[in-house]
Amino acid sequence: MKILFSYILLVLLCIQVHAQVSIESMLCKVTKPLTSNQRIELASQFSAWQATKATSLNAPAEVKTIPLVFHVISPSVPSVAEVEEAIVQLNDAYSNKGQFETNGGADMEIIFDLARTAPDGGATTGINHIPTDYTNMDMDLEDTDLVNHSHWDQSKYLNIWLVNSIEGEALADYTGRSWWTRSGVGGYANGAGVVVTSLTTSLVAHEIGHYLGLFHTWEGRNCKNDDCLLDGDMVCDTPPDKSTGGCNDNSCHTDTLSNYSNNTFFIDTLDMSTNFMDYSSCPLDFSLGQKERMHFTLDSSYPTLSVTGRTTSVLQSPCTDVRHINFYMDRQYPIPNEEVLFQSNTMGNTTNYRWFVTPSDFIWKETDPRVGLVSTLADLRYTFPNEGDFKVTVQAWDASDSTCLASFSRYVRVGCGVDARFYPDIRVIASKQPHALMTDSVRFTNRSYNATSYKWTISHQNFDSTNPSLPDTTSDLKDLHFYFEEPGEYEISLTAINGACEDQSNVFNLKVFDPTMEGSPYIEEVLCSSADTLLVLFSLSNNGYDTINVGTPVAFYDRDPRYVATANLMGTYTLPGFIYGGESNLYSAVLAGDITAIDELFVSFNDTGTVDLPIQYPPDDRNQLSTQTIFPPSGYSELTYSNNVNSYKIDVSGFTQERDTIVCDGQVIGFDFEDMFDPSFCSDTVFWVSEHKGYLSSDLQLNYLANEDDLINVVYRSVSGMEILGIINVRLGRPSFDLSDTVYRVRRGEGVTLKIEGDSSYQYNWTPEEGLSDPYGMSPFASPEQNTRYTVEAVDQYGCITLAKQVQVWVETTAHLPNLFTPNGDHSNDHLLIYGLESIIDVSFKIWTKNGVVVFASNDLVTLTKYGWDGKYRGKPLPSGVFFWGVSGTYEDGNPIYLNGVESGVIHLAR
Ligand SMILES: [Zn+2]
Repeated sequence: MKILFSYILLVLLCIQVHAQVSIESMLCKVTKPLTSNQRIELASQFSAWQATKATSLNAPAEVKTIPLVFHVISPSVPSVAEVEEAIVQLNDAYSNKGQFETNGGADMEIIFDLARTAPDGGATTGINHIPTDYTNMDMDLEDTDLVNHSHWDQSKYLNIWLVNSIEGEALADYTGRSWWTRSGVGGYANGAGVVVTSLTTSLVAHEIGHYLGLFHTWEGRNCKNDDCLLDGDMVCDTPPDKSTGGCNDNSCHTDTLSNYSNNTFFIDTLDMSTNFMDYSSCPLDFSLGQKERMHFTLDSSYPTLSVTGRTTSVLQSPCTDVRHINFYMDRQYPIPNEEVLFQSNTMGNTTNYRWFVTPSDFIWKETDPRVGLVSTLADLRYTFPNEGDFKVTVQAWDASDSTCLASFSRYVRVGCGVDARFYPDIRVIASKQPHALMTDSVRFTNRSYNATSYKWTISHQNFDSTNPSLPDTTSDLKDLHFYFEEPGEYEISLTAINGACEDQSNVFNLKVFDPTMEGSPYIEEVLCSSADTLLVLFSLSNNGYDTINVGTPVAFYDRDPRYVATANLMGTYTLPGFIYGGESNLYSAVLAGDITAIDELFVSFNDTGTVDLPIQYPPDDRNQLSTQTIFPPSGYSELTYSNNVNSYKIDVSGFTQERDTIVCDGQVIGFDFEDMFDPSFCSDTVFWVSEHKGYLSSDLQLNYLANEDDLINVVYRSVSGMEILGIINVRLGRPSFDLSDTVYRVRRGEGVTLKIEGDSSYQYNWTPEEGLSDPYGMSPFASPEQNTRYTVEAVDQYGCITLAKQVQVWVETTAHLPNLFTPNGDHSNDHLLIYGLESIIDVSFKIWTKNGVVVFASNDLVTLTKYGWDGKYRGKPLPSGVFFWGVSGTYEDGNPIYLNGVESGVIHLAR
């Protein structure tokens, strides 16, 4: 069927097991999960939008009112009162009121109301009744056809199509070790609006949630939560959730992981089961974060949708009285040159009519209202001249008030009278020949209109483009029950025929997965196990869906069994446990034989070497392929050698391993051959040889004194001649450093920075710690109370320690001597005294002239500190001038005596 107009691709879906009002049965899915790039883009747009908002999440948003238009594609139409009551409930759901009030829920500040003005300005009930066969429609095949019957400008109205039933399938996928479950569809959101099978509040609230940008709370079906703006439903105040059902589940324990969530979830919380976007049995509310997402979507994707801020509201009728109109056609499938009756129904006073038939893409303009005018009678009898897509509009008014029109329109497809339609009963299968019991089928039900014969076309595209695709298959049966014999992507279409009239259905795309188990072995490593056995570490992946059973053989050969008929079977390993579809396990096998003769080891899945493959069918497993697939009593595997053979090259002399070991100078280090190279190694001869020290030992363990860089070879030689060489590079760790000075003098109460010239990555340890600002630093500030000898050593990153070095810090007392005195008899500064000198053993102080004549000398503490020098020599005052002094002596603590911190200096005598 031709597509009349296009809209945003169908993205979001929701389903319901039964079309009838059961909240408990609401199930939903997203058919096209966002790619990670789409998530990043969306999250960045959302963040940018958030940044433009001055208000926080909790602040009230501008309440937005969204006009709804209902297209009732059903023979029975709900009354305006019933729709209005549904909207009251919907508004309670969106504002967390009434029966939907919960403690955790939030007011979305979004209100819905019925549109009362149609796109052409006419009065409307906001409920368009368009009875067609498409009230029973297929979600995958007929969504566009449904929308094409009636739709209003989605930038100004939220379109809701109400249908009787939806053919579709949700959650049809494979998770964990169980095959898909399937559910019927009760509603979904597409890019043009939402489609529902009932006016159930939770269903409509959920689908509109999708339309306004919300995902299911369990979106992604994992617990990933390292960035709540990107993960899951991309809403930060809904906890991570992977459960699609239940009401008090706690499916994820990652609640506190996301940075943002750390501000929301401080502890593990239950899933938000009451959320409308969950899949639970108790949907009641939305969260604040979802409110923010919906307002973001409204602002960015539907900026003109809400009437808030519009100058004229489509929620108001243009008429003061109740006045509206619609029409019914006397046939669903008009053909050219055949009169169609369009019969109008009016409410209120309507005396005048005008009918328009325009191309479907015609946009009605106020300034030119009479384009396409075909009648002014109450009913229209119209003969379409040709096939095509048309829009039929009726407008009615009362002669007393021609300014107020009631209007109604719908789209009409004029063809040759045949409509090709079908639907499949199942949408995901795994199927394959030649194992008839593994072959799954799909029943395609034909519901074409007015056809007398049919032609089905099934075309196949192999998943693997290197394999040929099957030729097209055709069938002329009415309903098709087709067995799919080869995995791949199929396109199924139907041509419905009546005489010269043919109609082509939309194309159904079906992926048929490969049901068989598919073992793909990979040899990870081959080790010597004993003198004549090999230890093989290998993995086995199941690339199919059926379980690989316990006991399935894996065969090892010394040559390629695909090409060498004389390949020697070295052993057969039987799987000790299941490998489920899509999973992989690691195994080890010990193989006996002449291992020195092997240069490459081959492994083959499900092969004993007798070439009859598969040699064993594992018993049935519990995996259910689909609701319709009948499983064989035993599984089947891939029969080709395309991916079930792997090999590993063995170089017997090449078991060389090399390692570096850093040892501190003078340290004894122990090496254990078994620890270093293989714990299960063969037990023959081992010997250790040093490059510098020669032969060291023949024991498995070696104690080695490291005092220089060295190279140690450890050689294993099996009785069969197999040799393994290990090389150990011994590198000495020798940290060293220098001190910029080793003796410092400070006055008591002052200090000095001790400086190390060395590697800043080392740790330095100073002892004692007393008086040091940083006893582990490269330049500690030292201000000891008394003379201190510090010791410092360095430790490098390997723990090697340097020889210690020492620093002496002398702490001087505060004894001092003025450098000027005035012996002029004024009783001020007439004597030169030493101040602060005490606790001494002995002292000697002298003053001499520049010619070396000693003019004053004393060894007496009292003389020096109480009487001093009076500036006289032999009883005569000396003239002004410069004199020299010197001090020596010892304190009681053994320290030498200094004055002003020095042993000698000058004084100025001034008169
Ligand atoms: Zn949904």
